Amino acid sequence: MCGFISIFGPPESDAIQDALNGLLAIQHRGQDAAGAVTFKDRFQAKKGLGLVREVFGEKHLQRLRGHLAVAHVRYPTVGLGEDTDVQPFWLDYPVGTAMAHNGNVTNFHELRRTYFAQRNIHLGSNCDLEVVLYVFADALMRRRADPVTVDDVQTAVKEVYDRVKGAYSVAGITSEGMYAFRDPYGIKPCIFGKKVTPEGTWYAVASESVVLDVAGYEIVRDLKAGEMVWIGKDRVPHIRQVANKPHRPCIFEYVYFARPDTFLDGTSVYEARMELGRRLGRAFLETKLVADVVIPVPESARTAGQTMAEVIGVPCREGFVKNRYVGRTFIMPNDKARQATIRTKLNPIRAEFEGKRVVILDDSIVRGNTSRQMVKIARQMGAAKVYLASYSPPLLFPCLYGIDMSTKREFVARGRTHEEIARELGADHVLYQTLEQMEDAVRTAGNKDLQFCNACFAGTYPTGDITESMIADIERDRLEASKV
Ligand code: AMP
Repeated sequence: MCGFISIFGPPESDAIQDALNGLLAIQHRGQDAAGAVTFKDRFQAKKGLGLVREVFGEKHLQRLRGHLAVAHVRYPTVGLGEDTDVQPFWLDYPVGTAMAHNGNVTNFHELRRTYFAQRNIHLGSNCDLEVVLYVFADALMRRRADPVTVDDVQTAVKEVYDRVKGAYSVAGITSEGMYAFRDPYGIKPCIFGKKVTPEGTWYAVASESVVLDVAGYEIVRDLKAGEMVWIGKDRVPHIRQVANKPHRPCIFEYVYFARPDTFLDGTSVYEARMELGRRLGRAFLETKLVADVVIPVPESARTAGQTMAEVIGVPCREGFVKNRYVGRTFIMPNDKARQATIRTKLNPIRAEFEGKRVVILDDSIVRGNTSRQMVKIARQMGAAKVYLASYSPPLLFPCLYGIDMSTKREFVARGRTHEEIARELGADHVLYQTLEQMEDAVRTAGNKDLQFCNACFAGTYPTGDITESMIADIERDRLEASKV
């Protein structure tokens, strides 16, 4: 999972400041690497491994000039997290374009073996964006006349959709304009905004609406599944529908990934999490178990913790204090490092556990590392009972669309009953949200008609083109990456 932004500013403006403010707002989508490319006479870039504030300094604000910018924060899912894989990528020739994406190309290996081998193109990275970039640029190169028009971009996007499988939302710039396109099923988010200043009108596209908030843009709207936008020399946004597939936004964005202050496809992530908490609270009451306190695992479970506790009729307390400087545990290179880091990241407050029947609430349970440790700590702190609750259902299937969920073998819920999971994690009981309740909760918070990509919970991949060999390719990549 990654985050992107592209900016089209008024003629004499510099877009980099908005791009970097925006990147800080979506730092949660990837802390592994950051980069930005602007255009003024030529593409100018700054990319590096690390957090946005580590990669960028004052001098880059001075150097990265121009009213067009594209920027990215990375969370590696394919590739080994090398600096050659840091986005945005760009080509100066034959059609200059710089691009960033969020998602995952599922036929990356196949395209490498076929399309690219036949054209004698040697990809310079392990990043799947590179295949999108080449297919897009190749199609643009075949246009009839200058400058690039909306029809040219539409043709190029169509070519990408036809050849490149998976789920990827893309933002980019050329020497003259800005474009973005959302994947055919709209699995990945992509929102379009605008602001008017004395200098003129600015446009921005981003992975989350919080980018628009912090940089002063108002939301125009989310791009629909399979839709593109192009803003060229006429400075007018041209929106076109390029693919016509059913919209299946990723439900895990609401559960975990997006910031609570983000709106995705018109639905408030905060409201969705509040409702997820309420539903799980009701499910807890049905178990007839009795609790004294709800303790959410910070940060993502906090919102749902409040409402779950309200429904149960007990306080919601900060039983774990998070050291926010440790970084996300998933970003750790391997499982051992991850487990050690969880303990340094979350420290308990004894008074909230001692003698109490506690519900430890998390957004999800993947490998079970976090839950196992939280249960262990709760017992060390003298909890009378430890109930583990997840406001999403058991994760059972790998996400092939860009969320690093681990490989099939690693899911703690795989092949186990709830009793067995509780035993495995050391809890007195484990309570999961059901798939129906989760989906309904998110719908209640916003768009009543939304149907989701729930592949990681249910195993049905909406793109319908996932083969065993794609799964094997992706699993192999991830296993390789975890050995580094
Ligand atoms: P685990 O410890 O492996 O069971 O992972 C569950 C924890 O990781 C939960 O606290 C989640 O908040 C968090 N989490 C879930 N999915 C992801 C993901 N794809 N990337 C990073 N963190 C995640």
